[in-house]
Amino acid sequence: MRYMQVSGNEQNLARCSDNSCPCGLPGAGIPRGEGYVYVSKEIADFRADCLNEAETRLKVDLLSTQTGTAISAAGGVFAPILMCEQGARKRGLDLSVAAADAQHWWKTGLVPLRPTPLAGAGTSSDDAAARHAVAPSHLPDSSSQPSVVPQTATLRGFPKGWAIVWIVVNIAGVLAPMSDLSDSAVPGLIFFTMLLNTVAATGYFLLVKKRAIGLYAVLGANLVGFLIGIVQVPGYYITVKTGLIPGIITYFITRKQIRYPFGRSRVN
Ligand SMILES: [Zn+2]
Repeated sequence: MRYMQVSGNEQNLARCSDNSCPCGLPGAGIPRGEGYVYVSKEIADFRADCLNEAETRLKVDLLSTQTGTAISAAGGVFAPILMCEQGARKRGLDLSVAAADAQHWWKTGLVPLRPTPLAGAGTSSDDAAARHAVAPSHLPDSSSQPSVVPQTATLRGFPKGWAIVWIVVNIAGVLAPMSDLSDSAVPGLIFFTMLLNTVAATGYFLLVKKRAIGLYAVLGANLVGFLIGIVQVPGYYITVKTGLIPGIITYFITRKQIRYPFGRSRVN
């Protein structure tokens, strides 16, 4: 089974986005993990060659250039629909499949690339009314964005470059003292420092992958490095000693993209 990327699964409450659903506007609330996903044949066909949302946006842009019309992606014509039970019944969806697809989407942001099977023989292709997509038109702070804005699995833009720089710095910190290990008076401490650099590099790598736990690794390793940096180590400069400050800066520049369990999350 192939899957297409559909953003919006980071919120805790979605709304029924089937415009033809009797639950009306703005749509019944659908808590995280619940609801029914409907993939029309048109959407499955359209997304067959653009599984991720960045590709979808390119395709939409290309199409609108070719046709000379501005295709509004804001209505989410190119994304599957998350709906309440009323809507799913009205469309005659196979409820167990549509519910399982919804659960899977909440967990992974991925939706199977095939039309949702119907429960009975009643073929409803009432897609014209189903213009409202899963996401992200109901998300706070993103109501004006098209639904095909890529929700990537990794950091984007400056925060990504920042994290990669610190991965490189910390790997350099791991490698640099290798030669000192044999002839140093404090091989244990150097080895420990290399370990801290490894942890910090791994932490930044996890942050690139948008894993909040990476920040604990970065801050933890750098805090320990800072503390042992207070001790004078002859002939050796502890590279992680000053890493605490970039670690803290990292929090502020990545919190728009990474959902941290503390502070005020800026992730939509
Ligand atoms: Zn509904």
